[in-house]
Amino acid sequence: MTVMNKPTVDELREQVRAPVVAAGDPGYDQARAVHNGVFDKHPELVIQAEQVADVVAGVNYARDAGRELAIRGGGHSGPGFGTNDGGVVIDLSPMRTVHVDPASQRALVGGGATWGDFNYAAHTFGLATTGGIVSTTGVGGLTLGGGIGYLARPYGLSIDNLRSAEVVTADGQVRQASADENADLFWGLRGGGGNFGAVTSFEFDLHPVSDIYAGLFFYELESAPDLLRFFNTFIREAPEAYGAFPAFQIAPPLPFIPEDRVGDTFVMAVVHWAGPIDEGEKAMEPFRSVAPVVAEMAGPMPYPALNAAFDAFFPKGIRSYWKGHFVKELTDAAIEQHAIYGSKVPEMSATMHLYPINGACHRVGADDTAFAYRDATFAQVIVAAWQDPAADEDRIRWVRDYYNATAPDAEPGGYVNFMADDDSGRVHDNYSRNYDQLAVVKSQYDPDNLFHLNQNIAPAG
Ligand SMILES: Cc1cc2nc3c(=O)[nH]c(=O)nc-3n(C[C@H](O)[C@H](O)[C@H](O)COP(=O)(O)OP(=O)(O)OC[C@H]3O[C@@H](n4cnc5c(N)ncnc54)[C@H](O)[C@@H]3O)c2cc1C
Repeated sequence: MTVMNKPTVDELREQVRAPVVAAGDPGYDQARAVHNGVFDKHPELVIQAEQVADVVAGVNYARDAGRELAIRGGGHSGPGFGTNDGGVVIDLSPMRTVHVDPASQRALVGGGATWGDFNYAAHTFGLATTGGIVSTTGVGGLTLGGGIGYLARPYGLSIDNLRSAEVVTADGQVRQASADENADLFWGLRGGGGNFGAVTSFEFDLHPVSDIYAGLFFYELESAPDLLRFFNTFIREAPEAYGAFPAFQIAPPLPFIPEDRVGDTFVMAVVHWAGPIDEGEKAMEPFRSVAPVVAEMAGPMPYPALNAAFDAFFPKGIRSYWKGHFVKELTDAAIEQHAIYGSKVPEMSATMHLYPINGACHRVGADDTAFAYRDATFAQVIVAAWQDPAADEDRIRWVRDYYNATAPDAEPGGYVNFMADDDSGRVHDNYSRNYDQLAVVKSQYDPDNLFHLNQNIAPAG
C-alpha cells in the first residue's frame, strides 16, 4: 500500500509561479486582510493566483494537506468568507482582466475582478450588465450569490446574464459550465454561492447602457411612510428602465445638501433611469411629488459613476455587519418598523436599502437557476459599517433589532450575499425550494465539502 505524503509549503512554492505569502513573509498582513475589518484572521498562506494553474495547485494543496480553504474574489464578504485561521486562501484578485467583445456583446471576466474593473472595460464600448451598488465589490462573490443592482429590473440579476464559467472543482479539475456543458454545475453556480469550486472566469452578456439618468432625493423622516407606501405600488408597475430604491441615510457633506442639514437623518430615494436619456428628467418627477424634497441632485451621468457613488462609505478595513431578507409586500406594519429603526441609522455608512428585484428578474423561473426567490419584490439589507471596535456591540444590536422588527412581514429566507456570520441556520430558507437539488450538485462536485466557507450546502447522501 502506498502512503501519500502530505504536500509541504515548500513543494507548493516550487509548483506555483504566483506569489505564496505565508506567515512571517513580507506583505503577509496586507495579503491576509479582507474588506470587513471585524475579521482579523491568520491563514497559513495566501496564494495570490495569477492564472488557472495557480488555482489548481492551491486547491490540490489545501485538499491533500488537509487545510481549510477560502476563496477570495473581491474580498467583500460580510461574514469574512475570504479568509480563515491556519488554512489556505486562494486570492483571485490578480486575475482581474476583463475582455469585451463588442460584436457579440459579451465579456470574459477574471474570477477576481471587481465591478469597477468590469465597468471600466465595458463602458469603453457603451456596454454594461447588472452588477451591485458599489464598484469595489467582487464580480465573483456577488454573481455567485445572484447579483442585485441598478440594472436588475431591465436586465435581470447578474446570474441571468451569465453565459458560462470556468471552474476549478475540488478534485483539481478545470471544468466549463454552461447550458450545454456540466449544466447541473452551471445551474448551481447561478445563486448557490461559492459552494462548487473556484470560478476562474465568467462570461457575461452585455447591454447597451452608457450614460444613465440618476437622482438622489432626500426627504424628512416624517415622509418615510409616504415614500415607502409609494414605492410598494410604484415599482410593481413602473417601466423596467427604473432601478430605484428607498433608503435611510445621514446626509453627507455634498454640495447639494444645505450646510445646516449635513449630519441629519433622512429617508432617501435613489433613482436610476436606464431608458432614453432625454426621458430621464421626466422619470424623476414622481419622486418630486411623493413628498416635499429637502435636497436633490439629478442629472445624466456615466453608468460607472453611479455604480461608484457609494464607494467612499465602505473603505477597506471598515468594520461591518449586515442582515437581509426577501420581501414580497411592504405592509403597513413593516413600514411602521422601518420608520422607527430607519430613523436610528447610527452613521453615514449605515443604511437600509430595499432593492427591487422584479421586472426581468421575474421572467426567470424559481428553479431555472439556484436563486429561488423569483416572486419577491424586494431584497432588503440593513447595513452597519463603522470604524471603532468599541462600537461593535451597539452597531450589531441596531442591525439585529431592525431585522427582527421587520422579519414578521418578510419571507423566511434572504439573499445569501446579505447574510451575517450568525445566519448559517438560515441556509435552507435562503435556498428554499432549490436546496435539495443544490445538495445533489454539491455531492457531485464537492462531496467532501472542501468549499465550505460560504452559505454552506451540505453534500447530499
Ligand atoms: C459595500 C458592499 C456593497 C454591496 N452591495 C451589494 C449589491 O449591491 N448587490 C449585491 O448583490 N451584493 C452586494 N454586496 C454583497 C456582496 O455581493 C457579497 O458580499 C459578495 O459575497 C462579495 O463578493 P466578493 O467577491 O467581493 O467577496 P469575497 O469575500 O471575495 O467572496 C465572498 C464569497 O464568494 C466566494 N467567491 C468569490 N469569488 C469567487 C470565485 N471567483 N469563485 C468561487 N467563489 C468565489 C467566496 O469563496 C466567498 O464565499 C455588497 C457588499 C458590500 C461589502
